Amino acid sequence: MDSKILTQIKENLLAEKARLEDELNRFTIKDETVADNYKSEFPKYGDSEDENAAEVADYTDNLSIEHALEKQLKDVNKALANVESGSYGICKHCGQPIEEQRLLARPVSSSCVACKKALKGEQ
Ligand SMILES: [Zn+2]
Repeated sequence: MDSKILTQIKENLLAEKARLEDELNRFTIKDETVADNYKSEFPKYGDSEDENAAEVADYTDNLSIEHALEKQLKDVNKALANVESGSYGICKHCGQPIEEQRLLARPVSSSCVACKKALKGEQ
């Protein structure tokens, strides 16, 4: 892969990583014992039944957002690790290089267009 394109992709990945961490930091505490794990803070609105119900509802919402963000962050970190090890941009299914345009549009892609299509066709 062209080193200019790889540099561009790495910048995109780092920007995405910063954005995800920023969003997570708004309502979670980073778990220092487990890599890429964050813990949602339990909100405290008050002691009335309504407030308790709202706390649980918001906490449940936060948990699902937290898990979605964590998953995206893991994909980004995995892609960055692959950039470092020189194995970035290789399709995990067929072992062929993934199209550069696809990687530029979606840097965490781990399969090429043909394999992605084939997988979709099976479903
Ligand atoms: Zn493939």
